This record gives sequence, structure tokens and C-alpha cells, in this order.
Amino acid sequence: MSKESKHFDTLAIHAGGSASPDGSLTPPLYQTSTFTFETAEQGEARFAGIEEGYIYSRLGNPTVKLLEERIAILEGGEAGLSFGSGMAAVSAVLFAVTKSGDHILCSQGLYGCTFGLLQMMKEKYNIEHDFSDMNEEEEILSKLKPNTKLIYIETPINPTMKLIDLQKVVQIAKSKGIPVVVDNTFCSPYLQKPITLGCDIVVHSATKYIGGHGDVIAGLVVGKKEFIQQVAMTTKKDIGGIMSPFDAWLLLRGLKTLPVRMDRHCDNAEKIASLLKKHKNIEQIFYPGDTEHSNYGIMKKQMSKPGGLISFTIKGSKKDAQNILNRLQLIKIAVSLGDTETLIQHPATMTHAVVPEESRLDMGITDNLIRLSVGLEAWEDIWEDLNQALNRM
Ligand SMILES: *Cc1c(COP(=O)(O)O)cnc(C)c1O
Repeated sequence: MSKESKHFDTLAIHAGGSASPDGSLTPPLYQTSTFTFETAEQGEARFAGIEEGYIYSRLGNPTVKLLEERIAILEGGEAGLSFGSGMAAVSAVLFAVTKSGDHILCSQGLYGCTFGLLQMMKEKYNIEHDFSDMNEEEEILSKLKPNTKLIYIETPINPTMKLIDLQKVVQIAKSKGIPVVVDNTFCSPYLQKPITLGCDIVVHSATKYIGGHGDVIAGLVVGKKEFIQQVAMTTKKDIGGIMSPFDAWLLLRGLKTLPVRMDRHCDNAEKIASLLKKHKNIEQIFYPGDTEHSNYGIMKKQMSKPGGLISFTIKGSKKDAQNILNRLQLIKIAVSLGDTETLIQHPATMTHAVVPEESRLDMGITDNLIRLSVGLEAWEDIWEDLNQALNRM
């Protein structure tokens, strides 16, 4: 029976099997640092790669391996790799592909620490980067250089929720032989599968929707077998930002309910967005499911649903925005996203506080912008809390 031909919801529960040698329903947690060899010769054969098997958990672990197989199947890729955080995954990929003197083309607007990492790569290792809004073919082509080794994209872009047409970028990248990496954190493979759209590599902060319960920090990468092996044997093995077996176990549990959770996140967000849009104290909403969103067409084309994140500007100041957050009772003030709880944050002073003001304003991150990660509570209760805070402005 080929499990890979089953529906996404089934694969989220069964893909890759169970890793259980003794029939336990849930995957066993191999909480071990190392693996014993029966003989010295077996140890020699394992190290030589002649005999398959485990050696040491930084190199591989059965619980972690099952998660890697499952995410690869869910993303429609050949192989997966796990890391101790989303940033460990992002940095392992960027460092595996580039060397001093190379160039990366990035989407305009990136996760704050990815922005910081690129800055460091430039300053310390002479690996340069440029930004593009990736809207116009001409503009993308004009920013590609002979030494461009990678196109790195986030879509939707945090926190302004602009989208990039992945197939359009892939077409240009393929003509130049440049691989495309997508940070798929905001969507999860349930809403968007970049590899099936022609992209080469997907990275995830599994901390967010994949874990889904706010109890683990982790990262994942999916791509071609050869590329994944290269990363595994270089930047993963030797820099060592690995995922613990327990975190892999938590993520395997999280994945089982990803489809049902995402459906509810999306349904709740749709309700909240439509109510926010009509509120007298709201200036503008940024939500890909809004038919007036400038990238609504791209959303329809490449995402199965608009996701659970909404950003909005209020008719007011930074102080008004902070007061709204302070008046909330059910909704928690916190960064991160994709958790069961509805979370709210103020990007200008929190997630994007490190970005210089001018770049921040260029990115559309004004002082009256608020980002909401809609959780799994009843939408009526989320709205009641938000509405009372907005009404008292
Ligand atoms: C959170 C996040 C990251 C970083 O992931 P960590 O697990 O916090 O290291 C990268 N990209 C995006 C889009 C994120 O939201």
C-alpha cells in the first residue's frame, strides 16, 4: 500500500509509518544521545556507511527520522531534515549553498532574524544580498547577478501579508538555473506547497503552525535527496543545530491535527477579518482572504485558504495601539503565531523593533499596525475581546 497516494489529512497522521518495532500506536520516543554497536566491526561498517543504522543522535535518531520523512511527504518533496529552531534551519540552508563572494536575492520583507542573519553573512563572510518585491520579471532579472546562488522568499510576508507569485519567480529562476527557497512557516504545507509549484527548498519554523501548541521551538527543511544529504553532512552535522527527539515527538503529535487546526484557524480569521474591516476605528486590514487585498488573485492561485494571520492599522497612534493591547483580556500579548491561543503583537516595537525606522516604514510597518494570530477559541469570544478594546479607543 502506498501511503503517499492518500489524502493530506491521512498522510499527516500516517505518512512514514510509526517507527515502532513493537506495535505502539504513537511513535516511540528515542530519548538517547548515542547507539550501541554489537561489535567493533559493526561500528566500523556504520561509520563507513556500508551498514545502515544509527550512530549518534546528532547524525540521526529514529523519532527525528520519522518526522523528517513525514514532513517531506506532506510538502511533496524527496527528503526532510530537522533543526533545533527555525533559524537553525534557515542558517543551515543559507550557509550550505553559499560561500564568500556569493549573492542571494531575497523578498522585500523578511522575518527579523533572517534579516539579521543576512546582515551578518555580508559583514563577516562577504556573502551579499539584495531585496526585490518580486512583482515584475524585469526587476527580478535586473537584480540577479552571475554570482547569485539562491532566491529566498517569504510569502505571505510578515507582518504586512503581501504575497509573491511563486510560479512566476520559479520560471525566471529556472531560466537562470538558480534554486528557489521558500519560508513556508505562515502557511504550513496544508495551505501552500512550494515544491509542487516548482520551488526547490522549503524551510519552516515548526515552532508555529506545525507544532501548533506553543510548546516547542524547532525548524524543518525539505528538498531533493541530494541537497538534504549535503546539508545533513555539512552545516547540520558540523554546526550542530539539531532537534531533540522529544521535540520531534511533539511535532509528530502536532502534525496529526494540522489539517483540522488550520481549517479552524482559517475559519476564525475569516470571521474576525470581516468584522475588523467594518469597525469604525480600523483604518485598513491586511489579510490575504480580503477580496480587496492587492494579492487576492495570488492567494487564490497558490494557497488553498488565506491562513490565520491578520494585520491591521488603527485610526490612531502608537499609544492607542498599545492601549488596545493592554485592554485585552482573553487575547494574549505575545510574539510567535500559529498557537491554539489568539496572540497579538505590535510589530514596530516588538518583532521589527531592530529594523531601522526608515526601512520599517518602507516595509509598511507603521506605529499604528497591529498583528493578530487568530487562535482556536470560539470566534465570538475572540471578537468580543477585540471589539471591547477597539471601542474604547
Ligand atoms: C518564527 C519564524 C522564524 C524563526 O523560527 P524560530 O523557530 O523562532 O527560530 C523564521 N521565519 C518565520 C516566517 C517565522 O515566523
